[in-house]
Amino acid sequence: MPSVDLAVIGAGPAGAATAIRAARSGATVAVFDKAPYGRDKVCGDGLTPRAVGALNELKIDLEDAHHIEGLRMIAGKTERELAWPSTSRFPPHGAVWPRRRLDAALVDAAEQAGARLMWNTEALPAFDGDRVVGVDAGGDRWTAGMVVAATGAPGKVARMLGAERIADEPFGLAIRSYVESPRHADRHLEACLTMRDANSNSVPGYGWLFPAGDGTVNIGVGALSTMKGFKRLNLNSLLDIYHAQVRESWAPGPYLERPRAWRLPMSARQRHGRGWVAVGDAAGLINPMNGEGIDYGLESGMLAADLFLQNAASAPERYDRLVGERFDSFLRTGRRFSFLIGHPPILSMGLKLAVGTQSIANITLKVMGNLVDSETPGTAGRVLSAADRLLAIADPILRRTRA
Ligand SMILES: Cc1cc2nc3c(=O)[nH]c(=O)nc-3n(C[C@H](O)[C@H](O)[C@H](O)COP(=O)(O)OP(=O)(O)OC[C@H]3O[C@@H](n4cnc5c(N)ncnc54)[C@H](O)[C@@H]3O)c2cc1C
Repeated sequence: MPSVDLAVIGAGPAGAATAIRAARSGATVAVFDKAPYGRDKVCGDGLTPRAVGALNELKIDLEDAHHIEGLRMIAGKTERELAWPSTSRFPPHGAVWPRRRLDAALVDAAEQAGARLMWNTEALPAFDGDRVVGVDAGGDRWTAGMVVAATGAPGKVARMLGAERIADEPFGLAIRSYVESPRHADRHLEACLTMRDANSNSVPGYGWLFPAGDGTVNIGVGALSTMKGFKRLNLNSLLDIYHAQVRESWAPGPYLERPRAWRLPMSARQRHGRGWVAVGDAAGLINPMNGEGIDYGLESGMLAADLFLQNAASAPERYDRLVGERFDSFLRTGRRFSFLIGHPPILSMGLKLAVGTQSIANITLKVMGNLVDSETPGTAGRVLSAADRLLAIADPILRRTRA
């Protein structure tokens, strides 16, 4: 029976970060992915300074990524071009890195560190009573000191572990494709916050153009489940509306591939148990305010590996506590915020306020991107804690009156 220290299910950013960190410290690591090497992931490919910071921590060379200096926020007729905030904690730049290449760079680093990668291999947790003792994969049972579920949006593994999303918490859906554009080398991400569907309902979410610097731009739209009529929302037509909307400003060509949609999980019933932890999307770690999940995958993966290396037996419990200390309060505020903006009048009023002046828009960027430096929180930090307190009071009403 093959045996390893860590068995990682899923070779996306979260699984790869876990493997890189653990293998570099000498642990034996096996990573299983049901997809082939070089698989693509439906994504906007956008990396905030927070994500670039995590990649730097993993010593991943970003030479191949397109350097991004900030965000252009568009709300109605208001347009604000914002530089990324400068904090002591995060680098002053972001990036766009198409997932096929980003994910390949990460798994290559894991392999170089000594992790064993197994492609086209579905893995499922193997139990001894209620304890996960390894994985069943490719006809073998692999025993492991700890199993890391890095399986992305919940599916079979999450059901087996009891780690599905919490039914009454919000989640997101987003769709993307690529287009050619003369502005493919722009240095700003662009986000349009005032999206309307074909019936003119305002959509809590945004349309994006993320220039990849290689002749193409990632174009997409995302929406939160808190909007009225969410189940009837047609993402393909929303993307077409957005594509038409930016025709003059970006001169986008036709879609280079069929637009594809996927889920953005924002909660998980459990993210640890005896012998296992969940990282990244599998743990519901997506920022509800901007849909960012790559960074949270990288950070949670590194944390899981570090704790396992310190003490394998107590790692799952400590992981749950520490990942909670790092993210729970922010993510809870984000989920409450998504109920708030599910109400169209509040969304419209809030957007006017959020981009009202350049300085307020800078605070909005910091808060929504979770780019507040906890050591020097400044105005954005104070806004975030005030929002946290106010939203906590309003939360029961917002949930009861959800659109
Ligand atoms: C349209 C869209 C746009 C987005 N844009 C952005 C963005 O611009 N920036 C950002 O930061 N985030 C973005 N996100 C979120 C981001 O894509 C995810 O948060 C991120 O991919 C999570 O990484 P992960 O490693 O947790 O999971 P994934 O990247 O989903 O990887 C999971 C892996 O697990 C494998 N797997 C699953 N089950 C098994 C199994 N049983 N056995 C073996 N393998 C298995 C899958 O094949 C897959 O390779 C976007 C999401 C969507 C849908």
